[in-house]
Amino acid sequence: MTNKSPTSDAFTTKGLTKVYGEGPAAVHALRGVDLTIPSGEFVVLLGPSGSGKSTLLNILGGLDRPTDGSAHFQDTELTALTDSELTRYRRDHVGFVFQFYNLMPSLNARENVELVTEISTDPMDAGQALALVGLDERAHHFPSEMSGGEQQRVAIARAVAKQPTVLFCDEPTGALDSATGRAVLKVLTDVNEKLGTTVIIVTHAASTAALADRVIHFADGGIREVITNDTKLTAEEIEW
Ligand code: ADP
Ligand code: MG
Repeated sequence: MTNKSPTSDAFTTKGLTKVYGEGPAAVHALRGVDLTIPSGEFVVLLGPSGSGKSTLLNILGGLDRPTDGSAHFQDTELTALTDSELTRYRRDHVGFVFQFYNLMPSLNARENVELVTEISTDPMDAGQALALVGLDERAHHFPSEMSGGEQQRVAIARAVAKQPTVLFCDEPTGALDSATGRAVLKVLTDVNEKLGTTVIIVTHAASTAALADRVIHFADGGIREVITNDTKLTAEEIEW
C-alpha cells in the first residue's frame, strides 16, 4: 500500500453487511451498504442512534470487520487483509477522532500528539499539528487544564499529525457546546481544505450536514438518501 492513490476513490463498499451475534439475538447493524467516497471529500454520515453509523466507520477505519460484502480502500480490499496488515493500514492511513477525546491525562498536549508522531512514517511536527488547531500556545498544558473543545482540538491534532489519508470522526462535537463545537468543526474543514485529507464525520446533529460535500442519510443499517451540497456553509455560518 502506498500513499499514492491509483484511483480517485478513497473507499468503495459493496453489499457491506455486519451482523452482531447469532440466531434470534442477532443484530443487523449493516444491511448491504453500497457506497463510494472520492478522495478529498468531506462527508457527513447522518442518522439516528443505532442506525449503524459507527459500525460503518469502524469497518472503513480497519477497527472492525464485516460479516459479508466488500470494502476497498483505494485498490486494497480491507476484508482480505490479515490483522497485522489491517494494523499497518490504520497506522499509515487512518486518523480517528472520537466523542470523548481519549487523551492521556498524565501527558501534556504536545506529548499527547507525540505519542502518534513517534510511531508514524511521515508525521508533521507536533508543534505544527497543534498550530493547525490553534493550540500552539497550549502545548505544555495538561488535559485537566483545558476545556472540552480544546481537548478535542488536541485529539484532532494527534489524529492529523501523522498526515493520514483519511480522518474519521465519530460524534466529534457530541460532548461540546455550540461555540466549542463550531471551533472543532472549523478545524476539521481546515484539515480537509488545507491538507486534502478525506474527512468522514458521523453525527446525529443535522446542522453539521451543511459543511459537507455530500451528506449520507443512514437509517436501520442502510443508506436512505445521499445529498450533494452545491454550496457548503462554513463552521461559522451553520445553525447549531
Ligand atoms: P450508531 O453509531 O448509528 O448509533 P452503531 O453502529 O453503533 O449505531 O450500532 C448499530 C447497531 O448495532 C445497534 O443496534 C447496536 O446496538 C448494535 N451494535 C453495535 N456494536 C455492537 C456490538 N459490539 N455487539 C452487539 N451489537 C452491537
Ligand atoms: Mg455511533
